[in-house]
Amino acid sequence: MADPTRESAFDLLTAVLERHRPLQEALDGLPGLEPRDRSAAHRLAAAVLRRMGTLDATLEPFLRREPPEPVRNVLRIGAAGLLLLETPDHAAVGTAVSLAKRRGLAPFAGLVNAVLRKVAAVGPDALQDLDVARLDTPAWLWTAWGQSARAIATSHQTEAPLDFSLKPGIAPPVGGVLLPTGTVRFPAGTRVGCVPGFETGELWVQDAAAALPAGLLAAGPDERIADLCAAPGGKTAQLAAAGAAVTAVERDPARANRLVGNLARWGLHADVINADATQWMPPQPFDAVLLDAPCSSTGTIRRHPDVARLKRPRDVQTVIQVQDHLLRQAAGMLRKGGRLIYAVCSLQPEEGAPRIAAAIATTGLRHDPFREDELAALPEALTKQGFMRTHPGLWRDRGGMDGFFAARLIKG
Ligand code: SAM
Repeated sequence: MADPTRESAFDLLTAVLERHRPLQEALDGLPGLEPRDRSAAHRLAAAVLRRMGTLDATLEPFLRREPPEPVRNVLRIGAAGLLLLETPDHAAVGTAVSLAKRRGLAPFAGLVNAVLRKVAAVGPDALQDLDVARLDTPAWLWTAWGQSARAIATSHQTEAPLDFSLKPGIAPPVGGVLLPTGTVRFPAGTRVGCVPGFETGELWVQDAAAALPAGLLAAGPDERIADLCAAPGGKTAQLAAAGAAVTAVERDPARANRLVGNLARWGLHADVINADATQWMPPQPFDAVLLDAPCSSTGTIRRHPDVARLKRPRDVQTVIQVQDHLLRQAAGMLRKGGRLIYAVCSLQPEEGAPRIAAAIATTGLRHDPFREDELAALPEALTKQGFMRTHPGLWRDRGGMDGFFAARLIKG
């Protein structure tokens, strides 16, 4: 391959934008690449997806008619090099022209050359008067996020830091910053394997907001707790590390195996059940259930910018039906007085308070609002109704956090 980074980034963009496949799945499917090239291709494709609206706006004045999608992707890669990644002009333009030729787009090589030279001539000034946060956010998401839309979209402009949860008693590794909620944060771009304690299982990757729901469950030693939709196991690990007797339920067999492997590496125990949590029932009721429900994942867009390009409003309608089903099933797994935490990594209002209202209406559950002292390290996340709602604009000066919603219900 002449230029493995750009060639692979082009393949990744084609997979996401034309074949509607998740970026991570496309990355896993890339044939035999050096780890360095794989990671560079991933970062380049992610940068294009993250800033796609902005890149298209800077190309627009120089395009007389709509180019075919593959040509547009070559132009986006070239423009990302010129405007976002500080690639020298001649390299960004030259590699884009070669990429076009190698991908059967030779008739467009002249166009790619001419347009990118014009973009290079304007340079980063092209971004000056653009509302980049708005441009890089699909309209339906901007509308759904309401008053928080600009703060969220502004935080999506940059790559997320790398967060870890620590096993109890483990000191924060050198180079990490300890956040008030106990998460240790490393700068964006840090290689996971280079963080001391990762290979030996003393810590695991988990966004600061993703670590909050299990904390709010406040698992006691020896409590019997179900962790539904459990893989890869960040929340299972938190509950097991607190001393609870955890049953982790995961539907996908490969992911259930991965969870078993992760627990072994972390030196933690949980009973892993490979089953569909909408069908499975325990032989005995649990003291508590953590339901990390499948969701639209829009709270993870800063880590997975493809989500913003792949999801549609109808996907939200589909997942909320599954969430309601899981909530009803989870209610049946609880003993009287048992508690349930519902959590989703979503920023969509439908995946929040309305699900709790639906659960109350259809099960014997009642809402138990979170108290101020339970979210004392992050008071901004406590809503008036006693829910937890985080978004990427919170702790902006510290690097933000994923978008999560959580609520507690009690079985009457
Ligand atoms: N709780 C996990 C953690 O903290 O590491 C992350 C969960 S991930 C967002 C969602 C997981 O739920 C996926 O592994 C998916 O296979 C699983 N899942 C989705 N629907 C399920 C169902 N009906 N029953 C059990 N697992 C399910």
